[in-house]
Amino acid sequence: MAIEKEKITMLHGAGGTVMHNFVKNHIVKNFGGLDLFADVPLEAMDDAAAIGDIVFKSDSHAVKPIFFPGGDIGRLSISGTVNDISALGAEPYALASGFILEEGLPMADLDCILESMRQTLIEAGVGIVTGDTKVVEKGSLGGCVMNISGLGRRSIALENNLQTVRKYRPNFSARWTLDSNLEVGDKIILSGTIGDHGLAVLSAQKGLTFGSKIESDVKPLNKVIQRTIGEIGGIITMKDPTRGGLADALNEFTEKSKIGILIQENKIPIRKDVIIACEMLGLDPLEIGNEGKMLFGVVPQKAEEALGFLTQTREGKDAQIIGEVTNAFKGVAMQTTVGGKRIIARPVGDPIPRIC
Ligand code: MG
Repeated sequence: MAIEKEKITMLHGAGGTVMHNFVKNHIVKNFGGLDLFADVPLEAMDDAAAIGDIVFKSDSHAVKPIFFPGGDIGRLSISGTVNDISALGAEPYALASGFILEEGLPMADLDCILESMRQTLIEAGVGIVTGDTKVVEKGSLGGCVMNISGLGRRSIALENNLQTVRKYRPNFSARWTLDSNLEVGDKIILSGTIGDHGLAVLSAQKGLTFGSKIESDVKPLNKVIQRTIGEIGGIITMKDPTRGGLADALNEFTEKSKIGILIQENKIPIRKDVIIACEMLGLDPLEIGNEGKMLFGVVPQKAEEALGFLTQTREGKDAQIIGEVTNAFKGVAMQTTVGGKRIIARPVGDPIPRIC
């Protein structure tokens, strides 16, 4: 039998185990260990890197189509980078934009995307300070792809947060809210409903309608995060459940913190129409990407207070404490509504292609 040479497939960019192994065995294999100045290095494979007091992130977006219910590639790109920087507890302040435009893209569409980016930047309170534009021949880009890189800095809110954590956990020494920080007893808060973004993009890709209109949740979360960590504190870690959804993000927590997480199915916020659409299409909502949601790991003493604060905000009105960190097992398990326990494995990849 001839051995077929390995080639890049759509799964290599779909979150989950295939992408994770690809990044580890090819990207980190070549670049890991060269980042001598990084405090949170490439090998940590966290949401962003930290070098001294600066957080640095780069994120590309190739969503198809470039306009979808509730958003567009521009709003998505700004929010993606802003949210990843925010996940480390940093305050994003400067971004760079790299556009790769496809020949034939209507100028009116590009202007629409740029205006949407402008609005999102104003919402987030950050600016684009440098960038680059390239054009390629007509092909399969779907109009354009773009990269947004960005810088974040330490804030008084983050210092207050870490001080509160140390009140309950005197040995806590991390300077950022990293994936590896969780300890037994910590509560997991999810800031809102899951599945909305993936299904909104899928509906645009396939021309599907789900009875009611499902819109993407794409939004910048930096302001609500800075307020939560600054005014409540006790936040141990954060992560945005993007490609691969809640299942992927929670498994990443458990792998890096070397603990288990038990979540409660009946606590996971999810819209009725999303449940119905997922059942119709045979999709698991836990594996679908989100673009305006954050997972918070919180010391137990602060969990109710953090939840109460979040539910008073526009971005966190549907927030719930969905689970708890345990040492009874490794990995992620879910107490189901019918009374059983189900293992939540890391997905192979997000079931919907090109959602970001
Ligand atoms: Mg992230």
